[in-house]
Amino acid sequence: MALALAQPAGDRRSVTILGATGSIGQSTLDLIGAAPERYDVVALTGHRNVERLAAAARRHGARLAVIGDPAGYAALKDALGGSEIEVAAGPTGLIEAAERSADWVMSAIVGAAGLEPTLAAVRRGAMIALATKESLICAGALLLDEVRASGAVLLPVDSEHNAIFQAMHGERRDSIERLFLTASGGPFRELSLAEMAKVTPSQAVAHPNWTMGAKISVDSATMMNKGLELIEAHHLFGLPAEQIAILVHPESIVHSLVAFRDGSVLAQLGLPDMRIPIAYTLGWPDRIPAPTPRLDLAAIGRLHFQHPDAARFPALRLARAALARGDAAPTVLNAANEVAVNAFLADRIGFLEIVAVVEATLERCECGKPEGLPHILAVDAEARRIAGMLTGADRAVAAGGH
Ligand code: NDP
Repeated sequence: MALALAQPAGDRRSVTILGATGSIGQSTLDLIGAAPERYDVVALTGHRNVERLAAAARRHGARLAVIGDPAGYAALKDALGGSEIEVAAGPTGLIEAAERSADWVMSAIVGAAGLEPTLAAVRRGAMIALATKESLICAGALLLDEVRASGAVLLPVDSEHNAIFQAMHGERRDSIERLFLTASGGPFRELSLAEMAKVTPSQAVAHPNWTMGAKISVDSATMMNKGLELIEAHHLFGLPAEQIAILVHPESIVHSLVAFRDGSVLAQLGLPDMRIPIAYTLGWPDRIPAPTPRLDLAAIGRLHFQHPDAARFPALRLARAALARGDAAPTVLNAANEVAVNAFLADRIGFLEIVAVVEATLERCECGKPEGLPHILAVDAEARRIAGMLTGADRAVAAGGH
């Protein structure tokens, strides 16, 4: 397993949040704000939301605030005027934030834009709570090599992987028979293909159980999210795709399950609130109190499980095929999906075209064996260029931009 062993948790933990203005970032700040005596906030980053970044930096006493989009620098400097908080901007600023000495780093920049800052935190051997699954899909082998080389600790934040991480605690990998990743099925679980062809961006971002950023919400609706999570689980837990199954579970209460060779199955349950898995990583290896509502199974009464419908959700097949093809195919899958989701959110393509664009990009793109970060970034850029052409964008969409 690529996940490293426990480091002792000090009384106070210094923390950095990459993607502090997003849904995961705000949930993390909520936990930190509930016990400020436990945390020193080193750096917070955002991309365009200057106001939210400045407010968070002031409230939590951050030492450094970084805005990813350089156009926001002057406004951030202005908003933090009169404080002692340092200000930086752009990709180098994001890397600087990740390199600053902090015990624990939340990696929650959406898309492959999170890769280089995450690598910077990995390289200094930090404890990393990994929310940005796209980094792992884009450059899984490289990221894990760097984790092993630096002794960094990778803690999965995605609720499914966090659930598996909890259920596997103290277990040996060779005693695991199968992982079951649960999936809500998204807002269109019951729709026909003809109905899905007509759905709008605002319907797609309205997830029935979870409150999340726009990109992951659309990924949940196409079930590409589950495809990405399959690849994520493969990297994190070192198991082949054949040992990882997807189980549709509309209530999102059982967050995933691990089946062992003796017939035992362990699951982690909880309300669909990301503060729960985030708290597990924030306190790790200890459990910290989380100010979340509590699970009342008797009130819920029934839980349902079913197999996913491969015909209506072809993203699952595509993700499995990309993983089986290996080399840079997952990098292409991820980049094309980011471009297609942005095109759908901008009303340039229809919902069903998202996965069609990913498939067409995979067919056209050279997916050789990636040799290091520059090669991975080149494959990512080429996939974005092809998907950009296919989605009618007049220019390639910038990495992870929205
Ligand atoms: P959001 O869209 O809510 O937030 C994304 C964050 O990334 C924001 O801080 C945003 O800044 C920043 N950002 C966007 N583009 C760039 C860029 N090009 N460079 C630097 N920063 C950028 O997303 P979520 O919080 O929902 O998701 C974050 C990650 O966590 C995703 O990878 C997602 O798949 C994963 N995840 C999310 C879950 C959830 O429940 N939300 C669950 C499991 C995983 P700004 O807002 O200032 O523009």
